[in-house]
Formats: sequence, C-alpha cells, structure tokens
Amino acid sequence: MIGGGQLARMMIPAAVNLGIDIRVLAEQPGMSAELAASAVGDYHDLDTVAAFADTVDVITFDHEHVPQEILRALVARGVAVHPGPDALLYAQDKLLMRQRLTELGLPVPDWARVENPDELDAFLAEHGGRAVVKTARGGYDGKGVRVVAHKHEADDWFQALAEDANGGALLVEELVDFRRELAQVVARRPSGDIRSWPVVETVQRDGVCAEVVAPAPHSSGRLAEVAEQIARRVAEGIGVTGVLAVELFETTDDRLLINELAMRPHNSGHWSIDGSVTSQFEQHLRAVLDLPLGDTATREPWSIMVNVLGGPAQGSMSDRYAGAFAAHPSVKVHNYNKAPRPGRKIGHVTAVGADLDEVAYQARATAAFFQD
Ligand code: ADP
Repeated sequence: MIGGGQLARMMIPAAVNLGIDIRVLAEQPGMSAELAASAVGDYHDLDTVAAFADTVDVITFDHEHVPQEILRALVARGVAVHPGPDALLYAQDKLLMRQRLTELGLPVPDWARVENPDELDAFLAEHGGRAVVKTARGGYDGKGVRVVAHKHEADDWFQALAEDANGGALLVEELVDFRRELAQVVARRPSGDIRSWPVVETVQRDGVCAEVVAPAPHSSGRLAEVAEQIARRVAEGIGVTGVLAVELFETTDDRLLINELAMRPHNSGHWSIDGSVTSQFEQHLRAVLDLPLGDTATREPWSIMVNVLGGPAQGSMSDRYAGAFAAHPSVKVHNYNKAPRPGRKIGHVTAVGADLDEVAYQARATAAFFQD
C-alpha cells in the first residue's frame, strides 16, 4: 500500500486475518499505519516507489495522489497496480472526472471548465447567480470547494493556475439543491465481478464527513437500485479495480447526481468493518488480488458510524476509554493513533442494531466521549 494513513492502517487487520503479507510505503515515520510500514519514503520519487514495488506482488493505495508518471512507470515495469493509472486519473482530477462521467451518460451536476473570471461570470449568469467552484486537483475534505456569487471570488485560484507551469482550469458546477448526500460503495475485481454494499447516507459538517447511516433511511426499492446501477456503470466504464466510492446528491426533485469518486476504501464504508459480513478493507484486498469477492450483506438492520473529529483537548482518545467502554459496551471504537488537532479525523465509532434511534444515540454518545 502506498500511503500510511488510517485507510492503510485499517487494511492491516484484514490482511492479518487472511495471512496476507501487507507492506506500507508511508510518507513519514510515526504515521497511522506505522505498524506495517516496512518502508518510509516519498511517493513522488520513482526510485523509492519502484524499489518498494519490487518487494510486493500488487500495489494499491491509501490515497489518490501518486503522480501519473510514476504509476505508468510501474505498469511499464510489469508491476500489478490496482486501481490502474487509467482509472485513477478520474479520481485525481475533478475536471477529467466530470468530462468522463458526462461521456458515459451518467448523471452529474451542470458543470463547465473555466479559465478566467469572465467564463465564471457567464456560468453564474446561466445558473441563478450562484455556483460552486472547485480546484481540479489536490482538494479534500472540502478544501478546494467554494460557493461563489461573484466572478472575482475565485481570483486567488485563477492566479495560482496562471503561475502553475502546467496551466489548467477550474471546475464550476451548479449549486445543487440537495435533500441529503448519499454514497454507494462497490468493489470490482480485475476479472470483472462487482459487489456492492447498501447505499448509505453521509452527513457532512463543514465539508467533512461527520456521520454515516447504513443503509440510508428510506432507501429501499428503486433508490437503492439506481444508486447501485450508477456505481456499477462508473466502475465498469472507468475500469476501476478495488473499492470505489461514489458520492451522490439526492436532489429535492428526486434525482441522484454524482458528486465525487474515490478509488480506495472510503469513510462512507467504515461502518462495514462492524456492520457487514465483509468489510470494505477485506473486500479491497480480495479485489486487488483478483480473488472472489465476499458477501456484502449487513449483520444488523442498521449501522451508524460517527467520526471522532478533532479529539480531546488534552491527552489522547485512549485516556477516555474507561468511561466510553463502561457506558457503551456494544459500540466499536476505532482509534487511528493520530495526534488530536481541531477538525482532524482521529478515529471513528460504529454502533449496530435493529432500532435506528437507539443505534444513533449509542454511536453519537460514544463519539462524544472523545471530543471536547
Ligand atoms: P472534497 O473533494 O474536498 O471532498 P467535494 O467535491 O466532495 O470536495 O465537496 C465537499 C462538499 O461540498 C460536498 O460534500 C457537498 O456538501 C458540498 N458540495 C460540493 N459540490 C456541490 C455542489 N455542486 N452543490 C452543492 N454542494 C456541493
């Protein structure tokens, strides 16, 4: 795995259970996946990545940031890379993603490529005077996303593009009037088989995922089928291998529009560790190794995952274990061993059960132990 964050960390127990030797190329010492970090090095450096790749059978990722030229050089050396560069491209660049999804006939918000404030102005004029501007590359957790009502409100980003030798453009989108945000997570193995978990509802606060409800309430029937169809068409159309998360808007007029793609285990699938027969981490391993995929049935009618954001003002999550464990013995706590910092995801908790209100209370109350 390239990248030493919490996704790599949560892959480790799944690999240990299957007796798969997992190795991690971490960006720096002391990262979340340090337990398995057999190497520390810069993923922008071909020699470092190639030396690491020579020690494994398959390369996969904790994030989407490994440059295309490095990915392509690995493929040229005969390394199995999953997902491959042709798919990852669309998780790396939101403009290319919007373009490809449009070509595939998949539902996306109205969008345009804009290179200057006047082009932004034209889009604003056609979309009721408000729009969402996004940087094509490098955004995460809402950084690189801005609601604008005036053509000069993205000038700093246009300026940065002008100074960038590669040039480029910004993505502008209609401000979608959505009822809620959903996510459809699926896994696809190279030989083609696809398995999906139920569509989930994701609750975002300040551009960061706060909570996930699985399955999404009121999603039985056609809504679930449409969400799954969309994700399958993305996975097949783009040739994704491994886990794919498709973030969706459910609009107030009952459409599903694709917001974002992630080609790796995703926050919206963390509930599956405790709530599904096969977790997204085990499934990702099965998929990238081209093994038959596991059953994605839910263990209980409801699972709710709540992120621990920021963490305790003093000390660490584990200082609060005694109180949290005593109060909520059925809730599962996942600690990424990351230093608390305002807004940072340092862990999550998952509750499962038959009563949605009870499951939500237990998950939220447990997460509250770890936050001040
Ligand atoms: P990131 O890559 O940083 O996660 P996203 O593109 O997922 O950024 O956007 C972050 C959040 O901003 C979304 O979860 C959603 O709440 C809001 N958002 C993004 N695009 C739109 C849009 N076109 N209309 C309305 N809200 C949006």
